[in-house]
Amino acid sequence: TAVVPAQPVPAGRHETPGIPAVLGADLEVPVKGGELVRYVNLDYAASAPCLEPVSAAVAAALPAYSSVHRGAGYASQLTTARYEQARHTVRAFAGARPGDAVVFTRNTTDATNLLARCLPRGTTVVVFETEHHASLLPWTGAVRLAPPAFPGEAVRAADETLAAIDGPKLLVVTAASNVTGELWPIAALAHIAHRHGARIFVDAAQLVPHRRLNLTALDLDYVAFSGHKLYAPFGAGVLIGRPDWLADADPYLRGGGASADVTGGAAEGSPITTEWSGDAEQRHEAGTPNVLGAIALAAACDALSTTGWTALVKQEERLIGLLRDGLARLDGVRELSLWGPGHPRVGIVSFIVDGWTAREVAEALSSEYGIGVRDGRFCAHPFVRHLLDGAGRLDDGTCAEGTAGAVRASIGIGTTEEDVLRLVTALSDLVSRR
Ligand code: PLP
Repeated sequence: TAVVPAQPVPAGRHETPGIPAVLGADLEVPVKGGELVRYVNLDYAASAPCLEPVSAAVAAALPAYSSVHRGAGYASQLTTARYEQARHTVRAFAGARPGDAVVFTRNTTDATNLLARCLPRGTTVVVFETEHHASLLPWTGAVRLAPPAFPGEAVRAADETLAAIDGPKLLVVTAASNVTGELWPIAALAHIAHRHGARIFVDAAQLVPHRRLNLTALDLDYVAFSGHKLYAPFGAGVLIGRPDWLADADPYLRGGGASADVTGGAAEGSPITTEWSGDAEQRHEAGTPNVLGAIALAAACDALSTTGWTALVKQEERLIGLLRDGLARLDGVRELSLWGPGHPRVGIVSFIVDGWTAREVAEALSSEYGIGVRDGRFCAHPFVRHLLDGAGRLDDGTCAEGTAGAVRASIGIGTTEEDVLRLVTALSDLVSRR
């Protein structure tokens, strides 16, 4: 088991000019035999390391902070200004429309659950089975669509299904799969949804660390993402989108901040009655919010926008290409994909290794080579089962964690060519042992 050293970990040694450094790039971990090796983090899709400018923004906010929105004091006003500036930055990063609500949440899961609570009565949700559980499970009575064999089939299935539904409807889809990294045709799906009077929610958790999101240009009604996958620390996410459903729904949490006025009580001799805030953001952000999380999330948005997507995408495509070519050359290693190896994807690759369970591969990579990957079903059990079935891996008909999962390697800012080659070399070793 890797042990995190007690000393502070210096920022990245493998810096690329113009691209911010990540913290922890020089982390060293013991491997079998006791030797210390530089840790290769290939688990960005779970949580990405923190960017230096994000850490700096949090450090700058720490000396003077206080509760937002309610204090007259200097620190409170400063913190309120920083919190609202963070909202503004995140709005711009997502390319949201001027009137869209930007509600800070704990993460993407919290955002999808919030939206699920705000649906108008009688709304039918249509969701692909390929979704992460965060976007698959919050909706009660949703219509579930089987994994489409090609992107056009996704659009056709949505078209036919939405056409047959009356009343309010919401199409739910991921922008980039957390299992295969494949990009979904969200612009075409938005077009279809709107043609049938439906709205579309896009889970952008795995898109925003890798590609520019423009909610306005794509004509999306709602998007959600998490700070911890976007090079900020844990604890903050966001739901962005049309304010009307949010402003009309019961508050997600009941408490201070969400309430505009609370009247009644013993002094008035009447029951306590609450008038909830009509502002979509305040209505769903009861209690003291995670201000530092919002500041961190916004700093990450700023850092990525300042760096520019051209440089980020170019670097990522080179490295993911190298990784996929390396995997393709290994006998017994098979990449999983829904739409074939040629379909565009972000820096996420899942694969299986013949003769090895996913857990065995992940454990050997960690304990023998100091490489961190993810194994299992990635909180997308139906989708991974579908892919494993297609790869002939479900021979025994079970899908128990650790025996019938896949291995996932995911990259991002701070990943180097050396990291990729270390994974390919380690896998080549493993393959030759069985
Ligand atoms: N959606 C996708 C596509 C994800 O990959 C994840 C996390 O893995 C989530 C949603 C949930 O994110 P969070 O755990 O931050 O709520």
